[in-house]
Amino acid sequence: MPPTTHERFFRVTLLSLLIASALATGLAAAAHHWQPNPGTLNRWLPALLCIAYVAQFFILWRSPDKLIGVVWVAFVTGLIGIATPAWVFSLQAWQPGAAPLTETLPPISAALLPFLLAMILFTPPRQLFRAALVAWAVIAGPILVWLIGHPDALLSPRGLDMLITLGPVTLMVVLFIPFHRGMEQRMDQLHQERARAQALAERDALTGLYNRRAGETFLSNMLAGPDDADALILFDIDHFKSINDNFGHDVGDAVLKEVAARCTTLLRKNDIFARWGGEEFLVLIRGSGEAGIVRVADDLRQVIGETPIESVNKVTASFGVARFRRGDSMQTWLKRADEALYEAKRAGRDRVVAG
Ligand code: GH3
Ligand code: MG
Ligand code: MG
Repeated sequence: MPPTTHERFFRVTLLSLLIASALATGLAAAAHHWQPNPGTLNRWLPALLCIAYVAQFFILWRSPDKLIGVVWVAFVTGLIGIATPAWVFSLQAWQPGAAPLTETLPPISAALLPFLLAMILFTPPRQLFRAALVAWAVIAGPILVWLIGHPDALLSPRGLDMLITLGPVTLMVVLFIPFHRGMEQRMDQLHQERARAQALAERDALTGLYNRRAGETFLSNMLAGPDDADALILFDIDHFKSINDNFGHDVGDAVLKEVAARCTTLLRKNDIFARWGGEEFLVLIRGSGEAGIVRVADDLRQVIGETPIESVNKVTASFGVARFRRGDSMQTWLKRADEALYEAKRAGRDRVVAG
């Protein structure tokens, strides 16, 4: 199955995010490399993360179907990248005589917000809210616990900043996830309801074709940019009243459905096919010459009559076709087709007349 616009959007976004993350961790790795005494974690963690992001980028680049898998791997990579220093530095800071966490911890809170926002973007599966909550707790937990245990450090500017960013702000981001999901679901629902209502408003319930109102709208749209090659066909089933009288109304309905179905198979996707009245139909065709339109009408005539429908031995229809003429209004154009249809009836039915 080809990817949807939605999937393509998420793939491109994730690829961009992976590049940005690879660049950021690569730069961090380089910066630490030139530091006189970087320490084991600073020396290795950014470089390893950079390699992981580059690998994920290429996997997603080559296999678009691995999107969900890469989302999760990128999530875990980000979690490791942010949670590892949070734990290592917090545990170190608890040692007697160690420098306060507010002085030693690298600025991981700056990475936490983009990390959580990126998770929101990826219309996550249901369990991602739980995952986001766990991620927040795992990252913010050790730092918040240390801060609460060291009220002095808490009052320093960096301490306050860490408390606010890792506490209420990220929690709000995490809580935003279900809200965002709910909004999206509601939007999807509204779109579906609108599409259903629109389909109901413009379709004929019996045949599933466009109804007269929709046909008129298409016709007036066509007249907004008219072309000499545009044409319309009006056709009407012959002696339909006697089909109803002899075989019953249900058979009459079945005939209408079958006529609509047979003609649909012949028409092209761009043609407009509408039920114009009881047993009268309208076809709008763009870009067909006079000979072309008469041929289409005759094909429709033949497909209706070629085999019996239900118990009715032979069903026929009469056709009036009219090409657009410069200066036509909807009324004059329809009138010509209607007159041609009347002429076809008068001349003995089961035929096509061009107006
Ligand atoms: P002609 O060859 O001149 O077109 O004759 P006709 O009998 O087809 O024409 P007329 O307009 O007299 O009859 C149309 C009939 O179609 C009358 C109406 O009861 C019937 N009809 C209209 N809508 C429906 C429908 O939805 N289902 C059924 N079964 N019959 C319908
Ligand atoms: Mg009729
Ligand atoms: Mg009629």
